Amino acid sequence: MADVLEADYLVIGAGAMGVAFADEVLAQDKSAQIIMVDRRSRAGGHWNDAYSYVKLHQPAAFYGVRSEDLGPGGSALVSGTEVLAYYERVIEKLKASGRLRFFPLCEWTGNSSFRSLVGHQDDCQVKVRRKLVDATYMKVEVPSIRPPAYGVADGVALIPPNAIPRLVNPPSGYVVIGAGKTGIDAVLFLLDQGVDPDAIEWIMPNDAWLLDRARLSPGKIAEGLSQMKAFAEARTVDDLFRSLEAHGGVLRIDDNVWPTKYRCATVDMNELRQLRRVKKIIRMGRVRCLEPESIILEAGKVPTNAKKLHIDCSADGLAKRSVRPVFEGNLITLQSLAMCQQVFSASVIAYVESRYSDDEIMNGLCQVVPHPEFPKDFIACSVATNQNTERWLRAFPRWLVGNRLSILHHDRLWALVIAGIRMRKFMGPSNENLQRLMEEECSAA
Ligand SMILES: Cc1cc2nc3c(=O)[nH]c(=O)nc-3n(C[C@H](O)[C@H](O)[C@H](O)COP(=O)(O)OP(=O)(O)OC[C@H]3O[C@@H](n4cnc5c(N)ncnc54)[C@H](O)[C@@H]3O)c2cc1C
Repeated sequence: MADVLEADYLVIGAGAMGVAFADEVLAQDKSAQIIMVDRRSRAGGHWNDAYSYVKLHQPAAFYGVRSEDLGPGGSALVSGTEVLAYYERVIEKLKASGRLRFFPLCEWTGNSSFRSLVGHQDDCQVKVRRKLVDATYMKVEVPSIRPPAYGVADGVALIPPNAIPRLVNPPSGYVVIGAGKTGIDAVLFLLDQGVDPDAIEWIMPNDAWLLDRARLSPGKIAEGLSQMKAFAEARTVDDLFRSLEAHGGVLRIDDNVWPTKYRCATVDMNELRQLRRVKKIIRMGRVRCLEPESIILEAGKVPTNAKKLHIDCSADGLAKRSVRPVFEGNLITLQSLAMCQQVFSASVIAYVESRYSDDEIMNGLCQVVPHPEFPKDFIACSVATNQNTERWLRAFPRWLVGNRLSILHHDRLWALVIAGIRMRKFMGPSNENLQRLMEEECSAA
């Protein structure tokens, strides 16, 4: 017979979003009891499977949970190892409150049940007094935990990015497959180790617009708000990106190639200079198959050989999921409410859960902002993020500005006020223009 446990919330998934949610609920509601389960042996989700040289790609100052600082502050990033140590600390702290019970190596089996993956305890049934919280919905994928989506013939040397630091014999060359955040990290790591840029071939199915990390740094947000003028004046999506690029807000690897994707990946100027040293870029679409002597791509093939090492960086860490209501009766589905700010979003959802009780009002405050994929999504995501932010500033400004996970928290109040005044002039025209661009893009699609 299954053990029966009882809690107010059953949180499935101890990744960054599940933990940020739990932290905020426990802070807001001093009587709340939470049971959290995860398949993995410890909290931190996909960070457990990441390559050893992974780092946050946005400042640590606004990553993690609200109640605990991460990193030295400012624009500093921290390593994946530090992220994992942080989550260990946070989980211990939450457990010490006596109100969080964490069950690692346990799999949710549907409804309110979970089972141990290693047989260390009996199957459990949870009597959930309030809500089930699905913190797995975003389906973050990293290359080390899934096979590539293309064919790989016998004898081809293909490794995930995790295996680069374990190499014992240098190959004659490297073929990096994928140009998202993971591909960028793999190329930078190889260059950092002194690999000759000409020894790297980089399969870039699409060029993407990149964000200049300096613009995301704490204290720089008010400055970025002045980009609103570009939003107000752009005649087309391309026009908008041209204008943002001219002001340094977005970057691209090759000035001669117009990007067709936008996935929130960030770089700093030094990294961009490094990436530009790689000249052998293969733009022939996605890989279909790796054969011993050729790489078959959507738009042709290129030669390869057994002495080259292929590095699979093709997993989609930010898959676009279909939008669900966040609050549906006894179910909460954690999703992004601000463009590419998942942990902050989870904390907002927890705050709204603790302060309100009507699903309609709560979903009104928590409009989902799906991950962007194309440049046009940048517009829809910016509009939706701005609308959510305006709602939150009206409904709970003090909490919002006091929350370290909110980018707004890191700007000086006077800078925000000045930016607000400057923005006012462009706010109406900017919203109208973005709306128009969105409609045009939808009718053109
Ligand atoms: C390399 C990389 C770098 C990134 N850097 C940043 C950054 O700097 N800043 C930023 O804001 N975002 C960053 N992101 C985005 C990042 O994905 C999110 O911040 C966040 O870590 C996502 O966490 P999550 O909780 O949604 O997902 P996950 O980390 O995937 O956690 C979900 C958890 O659910 C568990 N689970 C799933 N199904 C079950 C089940 N049936 N039973 C039990 N458990 C289950 C899984 O084991 C997992 O631990 C980065 C992403 C990647 C891939």
